[in-house]
Amino acid sequence: MLLLTPGPVQTHPSVRAAMAEDIAPWDAAFRPFYARLRERIRVIAGGVEGEHITLPLQVAGHMIMEAAVRTYVPADSALLIPVNGQYASRAVRLARESGRVVVELPVPDSRGVTPAEIEAALAAHPECGHVVMVYSETGSGIVNDPAAIGPAVRAAGRRMILDAVSAFGALPLDLSAHPEIDAVIFTSNKCLEGLPGFAFAVARIDRTEASAGNAGSWSLDLADVLAISRSHGMGTLRFTGPVQTLRALDVALDRFDAEGGRVPRLARYRANADILYRGLKALELKPYLEDAEQGPIVVTFHQPAGLVLADFVEALKRRGVTISSYFTSYEPSFRIGAIGDVFEADMHKVVQAVKAALDELGLHQAA
Ligand SMILES: *Cc1c(COP(=O)(O)O)cnc(C)c1O
Repeated sequence: MLLLTPGPVQTHPSVRAAMAEDIAPWDAAFRPFYARLRERIRVIAGGVEGEHITLPLQVAGHMIMEAAVRTYVPADSALLIPVNGQYASRAVRLARESGRVVVELPVPDSRGVTPAEIEAALAAHPECGHVVMVYSETGSGIVNDPAAIGPAVRAAGRRMILDAVSAFGALPLDLSAHPEIDAVIFTSNKCLEGLPGFAFAVARIDRTEASAGNAGSWSLDLADVLAISRSHGMGTLRFTGPVQTLRALDVALDRFDAEGGRVPRLARYRANADILYRGLKALELKPYLEDAEQGPIVVTFHQPAGLVLADFVEALKRRGVTISSYFTSYEPSFRIGAIGDVFEADMHKVVQAVKAALDELGLHQAA
């Protein structure tokens, strides 16, 4: 079965096999392993030693986003969120429920936000000290580019929290060039191709120290994770976590290195996405995004007339392909992931499976 939800994503058998051992987070052998893994992750983020630190939590992506908002945005403070997709909307909700004031900047879910839009919104809302932005909006497949938006945030003297859950490890990110970023958050799954179970912030040490006491939560306080790292060492995990998934992540990072790192990984995903985009278009399905806006992570198509998503998903599953059973774009769509341990040959199979599934459902529209 090809798992293209995305995520969780398809993982390599060696990644899954790394979990098949009982280990204890408090064990002396685990501590240097965990400390080293955190350093490995900081380096992938372009974090600077002594300036940035990896702060893990044994949670899902949404929860570390909440932790980052709680930690870096003081209680009762305001933040700006460009909203051009489902994941940005979720950030709005979790920030509001954390007691923060959210100013939404609505943007169509068919393109990334522009620096001019961010500049104007920040000028109109001096109360917003932070911008929370989703890098790869998995809702539709568009990209909000921190290389373009970061300088606008910096010029306005504001701070940024970046949701890179479906970007990290594939799309470019060099924290050393982005002093405006307090924290970038992501998980062990998605483009790192590990199993779900852990989430990470790579964060500025100075900003994290200055944020102690903000969170209003012990569980979701990244400043406390930093404090424990300091007092007990980088090998110390707060609370029991699925540490087997850290073993799996370490193997996944070995595979990331063996592939040649981020650039070839992005090229593989881009090639995967292109095959899906062109292949499904050739079946006369309508892409949700213009070619130029289509990111490399997830490909989204309008639902053709008469399609019942649940039936389509089951028809694909019978052909060895699992896609998401719900859509997250503004208009009805279906989406297929281009990420995970999947390759061009797999994508050609997916195109064939879509064609056969549409035929079975009597929806095939190709000439
Ligand atoms: C997957 C994803 C998340 C959340 O991930 P969970 O682990 O399911 O909470 C957040 N943001 C983006 C952009 C994502 O793609």
